[in-house]
Amino acid sequence: MRIKRLEFWLVEMRLAEPYTIAYETIDSTANIFLRLETNTGLNGFGCAAPDLQVTGETPAGVVAALGEIAVPNLSGSDPLRPVLLLERLKEHMPNHPSALAAVDMALYDLLGKTAGIPLWKILGGFRDRMITSITIGILPLQETLEKAREFVGRGFKSLKLKGGADVESDIERVLKVREAVGPPIELRFDANQGYTVEQSLHFVEATRSAKLELFEQPTAKVEPDWLGRVTSGVHIPVMADESLMNLRDAFRLAKHDLVDMVNVKLMKVGGISEALMINAVARSAGLEAMIGCMDEAALGIAAGLHFALARPNVAYADLDGHFDLLDDPSAGAVILKDGILYPTGLPGLGFNLEMAK
Ligand code: MG
Repeated sequence: MRIKRLEFWLVEMRLAEPYTIAYETIDSTANIFLRLETNTGLNGFGCAAPDLQVTGETPAGVVAALGEIAVPNLSGSDPLRPVLLLERLKEHMPNHPSALAAVDMALYDLLGKTAGIPLWKILGGFRDRMITSITIGILPLQETLEKAREFVGRGFKSLKLKGGADVESDIERVLKVREAVGPPIELRFDANQGYTVEQSLHFVEATRSAKLELFEQPTAKVEPDWLGRVTSGVHIPVMADESLMNLRDAFRLAKHDLVDMVNVKLMKVGGISEALMINAVARSAGLEAMIGCMDEAALGIAAGLHFALARPNVAYADLDGHFDLLDDPSAGAVILKDGILYPTGLPGLGFNLEMAK
């Protein structure tokens, strides 16, 4: 089997509602879709969700990397040797993790479609569904409470609150949301690097009664030992997100006992191949993993879901990036019912872009 043609195109998707986190407000997102066509008539699909703040890429940079590096390197190659092809690409585009993730997804999609088996089963098939959290950005208290009630009303069992801009109002929002939704709903909190060590310790102590499930990236990634000080000073699990960009970061976080958990996003680490290795390092150190996402199309969410379903250590999912996207050409690549995500049951990543037309 050979890769006969590579095609990629940029899709600008508006968000149904803009949202705010510690350092920006977002109202639309650009993803780059990739199609790998084989000489046997199969199509593998992937997508890239570049984000200058997180992946260090622009949409134009991804388009250029795919055109100038992926096309000449992959054309005519055997797609059933994904690790060989990805190692080759990694050398040429070390600073394009989401572009690499798009290729990685498309190759794994082809692997599953060739076998006629959903990817999550090929990778291990540990579980067949996952609860996902849905995120509430930084909003005034009343709007936060309205959102929380709305999401619980729609069946979501886990909410992730964003904060990090003002610790006292974050504390108030967490406590009031817990009051509003009651004990059965899991609450997560992400400070997106917004706190100092002292603010982090204060936040966790002041929200003790809200029984937060986890505390994500409280402190700045440029100060790794701050994370360690928070982790050793609080009673709830602390998770690295921005501090975990690659396999080397995973090893460093594990070696120095800086966190309890890691947030693995395919777009920042470069795809499923890399995520499998990062998760192995995490597990070896007793760190649990969450599969996270960017503002990405359902196809990217499907890739994250298939990876997480296959791995026992990836016990948490925060795969909500696609819920709010208007005009996602891959809507339908995953199934959401009552706050739980399921794969479609079809081979590979479970989706063909033609299905959307
Ligand atoms: Mg985060």
